[in-house]
Amino acid sequence: MLATVLHKPGDIRCEEVADPKILRPTDAIIKLSASCICGSDLWPYRGLQPVDGPQHMGHEYCGIVVEVGAEVRNVRPGQFVVGSFCLSDNTCPHCRFGFQSSCEQREFMSGAQAPYARVPLADGTLVATSEVPPAELIPDLLAVSDVLGTGWYAADAAEVREGSTVVVVGDGAVGLMGVLAAREMGAGRIIAMSRHASRQKLAREFGATDIVAERGEEGIARIKELTKGIGADSVLECVGTGESFDQALACSRPGGTIGYVGVPHGVSFDGQKLFFGQKRMLGGPAPVRRFLPDLMERVLQGRIKPGKVFDLKLPLAEVAEGYRAMDERRAIKVMLEV
Ligand SMILES: [Zn+2]
Repeated sequence: MLATVLHKPGDIRCEEVADPKILRPTDAIIKLSASCICGSDLWPYRGLQPVDGPQHMGHEYCGIVVEVGAEVRNVRPGQFVVGSFCLSDNTCPHCRFGFQSSCEQREFMSGAQAPYARVPLADGTLVATSEVPPAELIPDLLAVSDVLGTGWYAADAAEVREGSTVVVVGDGAVGLMGVLAAREMGAGRIIAMSRHASRQKLAREFGATDIVAERGEEGIARIKELTKGIGADSVLECVGTGESFDQALACSRPGGTIGYVGVPHGVSFDGQKLFFGQKRMLGGPAPVRRFLPDLMERVLQGRIKPGKVFDLKLPLAEVAEGYRAMDERRAIKVMLEV
């Protein structure tokens, strides 16, 4: 089959690779309904993460099961499934505690920017729908697999409640999904920090009540002004830089909570500042599996349209243009037709 392979930074190709096959009795093979490019795929593409030989890219997926290993019990061929980018058994103590992204058997999905993919730990990872969903819901169900699940976790970890005042730092796809999640959780006010007109517009569509375009000290001052000097109950940190963490901490009120899902690069904390600031923090790779059944149901009922985050759709053969478009920030998130 033709699939996406990263050879070295900047060199991404759609080329012939071996068809995936069952390697362990707990695997499943799925035929993807669609795939997409993640912001995190840009790290190796930009050379910010080492590339040791050709890598099969893609970890966001949904599709039809075509084959299962001998020990798979929960899904069967013909079913439509969505899975998380973190593969988990869903039975170990961490999974049962709701942190499937720290599963004792954790692996990370790869090879999903392709027509077919192997999903290890299929029983714990995949969630099936009762019927094959209509084609128009595929972008929304695909978004659940990572980008919505991660934005949702940011809001959940930040303890967004009915009536909460929420600040979302970062207007990438995950930040926009964080806005949607906060609205679904009943936040009273959602302040999105964004400097880009198209992203501001989408943030408003997803539920942002206010937009703050300023950054740094000016951004912090503006949030203080909007919250009558108090700060936000919940802050969603969806970037992962030192500047964005400083922003998140400064925007949070004492006793407030920061949910952080941007992978930290060059971030450090001042212990005394945290101590006297009284800030709560929870983050890390999102345990998307915990939220999958609920989020899939919201999509199937037509309550949420997270697929709107895909602002560019390309055939898999043009995957290199997709990476370029996201790298140059011409696209928020690229969906791939496989
Ligand atoms: Zn587990």
